[in-house]
Amino acid sequence: MNYAKKSIEDIGTAGKKVLVRCDFNVPQDENGEITADTRIVGALPTIKYLADKGAKIILCSHLGRPKGKVDPKYSLKPVAERLSALLGKTVALAADVVGEDAKAKAAALKDGDIMLLENVRFHAEEEKNDPAFAKELASLAEIYVNDAFGTAHRAHASTAGVADYLPAVCGFLIQKEIGIMGKALEDPKRPFVAVLGGAKVSDKIGVIKNLILKCDTIIIGGAMAYTFKKAAGRNIGTSRFEEDKLDYAREVMVRAVGMGVGFMLPIDHVCADHFGEDATPVPCKHIAEGMMGLDIGPKTVEKYSAALKNAGTVVWNGPMGVFEIPAFAEGTKAIAKAIAESDAVSIIGGGDSAAAVEQLGFADKMTHISTGGGASLEFLEGLELPGIACLLDK
Ligand code: AMP
Repeated sequence: MNYAKKSIEDIGTAGKKVLVRCDFNVPQDENGEITADTRIVGALPTIKYLADKGAKIILCSHLGRPKGKVDPKYSLKPVAERLSALLGKTVALAADVVGEDAKAKAAALKDGDIMLLENVRFHAEEEKNDPAFAKELASLAEIYVNDAFGTAHRAHASTAGVADYLPAVCGFLIQKEIGIMGKALEDPKRPFVAVLGGAKVSDKIGVIKNLILKCDTIIIGGAMAYTFKKAAGRNIGTSRFEEDKLDYAREVMVRAVGMGVGFMLPIDHVCADHFGEDATPVPCKHIAEGMMGLDIGPKTVEKYSAALKNAGTVVWNGPMGVFEIPAFAEGTKAIAKAIAESDAVSIIGGGDSAAAVEQLGFADKMTHISTGGGASLEFLEGLELPGIACLLDK
């Protein structure tokens, strides 16, 4: 994939109608109140830049899963209100997406004005990337800006389809994602260390396949480690593992040796006799019968931290243990700390690892925390992301 894409800085937007695909898929409570506005705040630099340039800004996004039908529960009204408050100016919400109200409001925009379309997923055509719908959406504007990294791995009408009808560039959020992650994959500062954890090897097969070609060291934690341990002939007690991935795990380890890539597995563990909040953590070197590994142990933390200390680039995806339960969160915390303290270019792939880093207060110590879970995984797999591939090359 070509990561050198044009951005809003490479195209004249003054006086132009600009359709900006944002990721306003914010968490809400049962009353519809926004519980975290990180995604809205994250979109502000692109919106403010365009407003300062005198563009006529038409924002669009999805929210939740209305399944192609108008459902007031998924209205972007709370987002329009929060945006208005954050920007200190009114962001008018259209009553529809490509209907009369959206068209009238878009036509009436003055330079620097900002409006928001209703939830694009109120139309089933959005997720089907229906060309007629994409064309209609595109007809509202003269330029398309994609700034929603979280949906960039989806070929939907508002994330990719509209680019067939409009000159398409990225906003600052996507520019940062592809700038930092693209560089890590193409020309990383070495040693390049990948830390992979989480529940399943099967979720990370593509990432392992790609990163083994690029990294100097791969560090494994989480339940994933036990599939590798078992494949290496170790006793893993009742730890979670994937029987049907044992051959793959063996193959990866052989390939790593052949390619001179360091492949690190836990050398000690924090176990318990069952999985749960009430489980008693038992540190151990070898997992006894009837016990399951739920976190990496202190010796492993030491070993992994030493590898991270000297890293030039670190990519982290997936927790080292069952970090939701405090007794089994120490490994994940320690790895977050080691990455935060290293001088490496540190990239946190979205999802659980991003949440862990934020919860622990290390967010500002990382070079980049990706805003997309699925999208950042696919990016690390080296796959072409439709929402990025559709943008103009530099
Ligand atoms: P993922 O969605 O693949 O990033 O996996 C995250 C999940 O993996 C979290 O809910 C963790 O609790 C879980 N997990 C991590 N380590 C273990 C382990 N050793 N045993 C069982 N589950 C684990």
